[in-house]
Amino acid sequence: MTIATPSSSPSSKSSSSAQPSAPTRRPQIGVDPRTLDASLPETMRALVKHHAGPGLELVRDRPLPRVAPHDCLVKVSKAGICGTDRHIWQWDDWAAGRIPVGIVTGHEFVGHIVAVGSAVTKYKVGERVSAEGHLTRGRDYLSLTGSKHIAEDVRIFGIDCDGIFADYASINEDNIWDVHPDISDRHAATFDPLGNAVHTVMAAGVSAKTVLISGTGIIGLMAVTVAKAAGASRIYCTDITPERLTLAKKLGAHACYHAIDDADWVSTVRKETRGLGVDVLLEMSGNAQAMDQGFAALRPGGVAALLGLPAKEVTFDFNSNIIFKGCTVKGINGRLMWETWYQVEELIRHGGIELDDIITHEYPIDEYEQAFDTMLTGRGIKVLLNF
Ligand code: ZN
Repeated sequence: MTIATPSSSPSSKSSSSAQPSAPTRRPQIGVDPRTLDASLPETMRALVKHHAGPGLELVRDRPLPRVAPHDCLVKVSKAGICGTDRHIWQWDDWAAGRIPVGIVTGHEFVGHIVAVGSAVTKYKVGERVSAEGHLTRGRDYLSLTGSKHIAEDVRIFGIDCDGIFADYASINEDNIWDVHPDISDRHAATFDPLGNAVHTVMAAGVSAKTVLISGTGIIGLMAVTVAKAAGASRIYCTDITPERLTLAKKLGAHACYHAIDDADWVSTVRKETRGLGVDVLLEMSGNAQAMDQGFAALRPGGVAALLGLPAKEVTFDFNSNIIFKGCTVKGINGRLMWETWYQVEELIRHGGIELDDIITHEYPIDEYEQAFDTMLTGRGIKVLLNF
């Protein structure tokens, strides 16, 4: 998530990228998984942040994670490379300040449960699952009042502790999501970023409304198909990558503009929307100029949902963009547990959303360098790793 320019952003969001917190390793509590199933291997492949610099290393001798009483041990089958993983790969300032060297990265996945801890009651071996990456003890005010995704103690796997770019991952049963049998592995591996898009669209409310999506990275493109499915009347998109805008159009955008080259796009959009501007702004770029333009294109009394993370502090005109405009601004982080997950599942199964043009590449984990290169160079959009 973060994003310095609309489509080069880390979109992700899940990310989280966001608020730095003290790096902590997942405590190695629990039992050796081979005590639960002697046929499990001793070691596994894992993509590890091996040093405080660019790149990741594929190791083959990582011990399997231990299984605490409430953990499920999952054999990962497919994982998605997130914009957050781009930051971790590139080792930018955010990553350097947040990521503990030595962790297994990755947080978007689907797999099967192969062993369960002694106290697990909700799931059993053999079930196909994904998981919510925001971890919390669940004891604070926010967790107990329906906002676990922004809990005080929230940590994210693959960012603050070992993640899922590995053959096996150990995950608390409270974070597990059992995937509906109608949903393919390919789609199930994208629940995390798709959940970001769905959370943003649903928080804003787009039915029968005109919508501007600024930034058509992975999540921005997902937001196009989700907003379309959710009944947006007209969807406008901006970005600086023509190919992404072409895809946005294919996914259902009414009109797309190059944020810089189409100098008059704000007035064009306002003219088409009663001279006032769009009802809803979904800000996916984190780019300061895109934010300014997006609010200029938002009508008075409109709703803005902000997911894109600026790479640094931005200067922003509160008076004309928010206060005198009387608009509502919502910050979006993660996904609602578990309302967003149910919405994602409904949209995939019955909502007619289009993901196959967004998931552009798949690579075996052994070719992880090509996979990251495909994403980093912009040739691919959502890139998956197969284990
Ligand atoms: Zn992600």
